[in-house]
This record gives sequence, C-alpha cells and structure tokens, in this order.
Amino acid sequence: MTPVNIPSAALDAAERLASKRFVYADNAASMPVTERALKAALPFFTEDFANPSAIHTMGMNAASALLSARKKIASALGAGPREIVFTSGGTESDNLAIRGAAALGARQGKRHIVTSAAEHHAVLNCCKALEAEGFTVTYLSPDREGIVTAGQVADAIGDSTCLVSIMTANNEIGTLMPVTETAAVCRERGVLFHTDAVQAVGHIPVDVNALGADLLSFSGHKFGAMKGVGGLYIREGISLPPLILGGPQERGRRAGTEPLPQIVSMSEALIGSLEDLEAKTLKMLAQRERLINALLSLPDCILNGSREHRLAGNVNLSFKGIESENLILMLDMYGISASGGSACASGTSEPSHVLTAIGTPPEYVKGSLRLSLSDKLSDEDIEYLIASVKASVEKLRGLPSNA
Ligand code: PLP
Repeated sequence: MTPVNIPSAALDAAERLASKRFVYADNAASMPVTERALKAALPFFTEDFANPSAIHTMGMNAASALLSARKKIASALGAGPREIVFTSGGTESDNLAIRGAAALGARQGKRHIVTSAAEHHAVLNCCKALEAEGFTVTYLSPDREGIVTAGQVADAIGDSTCLVSIMTANNEIGTLMPVTETAAVCRERGVLFHTDAVQAVGHIPVDVNALGADLLSFSGHKFGAMKGVGGLYIREGISLPPLILGGPQERGRRAGTEPLPQIVSMSEALIGSLEDLEAKTLKMLAQRERLINALLSLPDCILNGSREHRLAGNVNLSFKGIESENLILMLDMYGISASGGSACASGTSEPSHVLTAIGTPPEYVKGSLRLSLSDKLSDEDIEYLIASVKASVEKLRGLPSNA
C-alpha cells in the first residue's frame, strides 16, 4: 500500500481523545467468532482432539462429531451430508469448484467458462490461470447496479461451455444476483452452475435446491466461525477431481486431516446466524437505510450498487475527490474499522475491479467506502458512524492534497 500521510492537524486532537467508541463495520471481511461457535469448538482442541480418521474410541468420537457438524451444515443449506466437502475457506472452495469443473469439461472437449467481471479474485484469478492453460473465459459485464442477468448468461453459453460461475452476493457492493434464474438457464443448457455464496450464507436464506446450484462455496469466518474453514456444496452425482491430493478424507475429494474445532465452530455459527434471521435482517436494513440516506446528503457522494437488490448489511459509497485509504485511516482514528472494498483488495492501491466493472465514474472509483454491518450494532453506533464519516470527509476535502 502506498503510505498515506494524514496531517495530524486534520483530526482535532480533543475530538479524538473524547471519542472512546469503537465501531466494527468490516463484517464482510471477517466477523467475530460467536460465543456459541467458540464454546462448541473448545473441547475439540484439548479433550476430544483425536484424529477423526483414527479407529480407536477417541478417533471414533471425533468422527462422530465431524459427521454431526456435516449434517447440521448440510441441513442448513438444504443439502445432503455427502454433498458437503470441507475446505480451508472460500478461496479453496472456489478453486476446487472451478478447477474441478474445468477438468470435467476438458475430458469432454469443453473448454469455455462463463463468469462475471465483478467476481471475487478467488474466482477471477482461477479463471485467468485456466485461460493460460487453454480455456476461454467470457467475463460478463454487470450493469450499473452490479447485476448480471440470466439472459446475459444464456447468450454467452455455447456448445463448449463447461461451467458458469456467478456469485450470489457481491462482497464489495452487496448486490444480490438473480442466481436462481441463472441456475435454471444452466440446467436447461446442461452446463454446471457454480455460485460463490461466501457473502450470502449465514446472511440470507440459501437452499441449494431452491437455488438450483450444482456447486456452492461458503466460508466460516464470514458468519461467525473461525478463519481457515469453509466448504463446497457438490451436488450428488458430480464427481469433481480433487485439488489437494493425499489421504482419503472427505471421500477422496479433499485430502488432509479435518480441522475439527473449526468445522464444529462453523456448524454452530451457521445455525446461530440463521436463528431470528428475519428480525436481524430488518434491523440491519433500517440501519443501512439510515446510513445511506444520511451520507448521501454529503455533496459529491454516490451509492455504489443496487438499493433494492442488496445485502442488508452492506453500505458502499464513493466520495468524489477523496482517496479511500485516507478516509479509512481517518475513520480508524475515530475507532471505526471500515474498508475501501474487499479486504483482499485493501493493502493494494489498485482501483476496485468491481466499481470499474459496474461503470462507476472514474472520479468516484478511488474514493469508495464499504461499511459492512452486523446485527450487533446499536442505533448509537450508526449515528456515530454517520457523524464520523461526515467529519472525515469534510476534513479530507479541506486538505490541499484532496482538493
Ligand atoms: N468469495 C467472496 C465473495 C469473498 O467475499 C471472499 C472473502 O472475502 C472469498 C471468496 C474468499 O474467502 P476466504 O477468505 O474464506 O478464502
């Protein structure tokens, strides 16, 4: 990241000291591990720590806990336990799905993939690597709201298409994609449909059968489990070649000793996140709308993405004439954790590929701010966010380098 110097005069010292509030508004990057998830995982570190593949009693107890977690996760997604493969997270799940489907396609002489230009890098870089291996990839352009329609996908599918990969919800702008319609198109055309549902699982109801996905990626740390664990739903009957070779774990689809504490934490976090989901969503929706309305009153500020088809917890705004990093660092001084877009993209000063793909005016692309909420934030937190963003934007706009 390019070093950013915010002159200390930019932030009123007294104001900084007076503010003892901390507001975590980067939940799309990682959520805290819930108490329920942590409590359920703890015994598997110290007491029930055996390898689930071992045949002694302790091993069998571990295997039984693994099966129970698998059943809970599968049931929460409307899947069967045999259709869930545990992975190290969303990135690996996307790689397994895309590389696996590509390998299946290649066996039939099909080497064309359809995806969107606003996917996560876990999908995009996988597709780029496959291009270097002789595949062709169509990157569909989303509209201004970030939506890629089923019609666009239908038009892009050809005789050699082996996979369509379109995300369920965008990680930067929160846009909810019409994936059910897209899945139906793929089914009709006999093409595998993968969806990166990393930002959706635990936040909106996801049922693999209602959705019609063949492959669906999810990641624990996005809904209150530990980092380093995720999963891929693989529809029964699809035999994806493994990415990681070794032992026979996960029925030969992903080698390596299963991280039981993480997996248990993921099953409990998922169940917990789906409890009272409607009430939590309504609360976040009201807070999101309050934030958007209040911040749009600032001059030269736009909302990125869709107002209607949007995750309840996602706010993504751009401020003309402001560098996103400066705004995030200034908000950090107010005790606020926010992001410019995706966590993976922050740390680079590259303009967001998502904002570019949706046709954001260039003068707004570099000044984006993502506030991703959780149901734990109070209305006072929201008012504090509003006041801090307003103050930061005004201060940055007053600085010569941002003028
Ligand atoms: N896909 C999406 C949409 C994401 O938001 C993320 C993480 O930000 C990933 C994939 C990667 O997930 P993980 O961090 O578990 O590897």
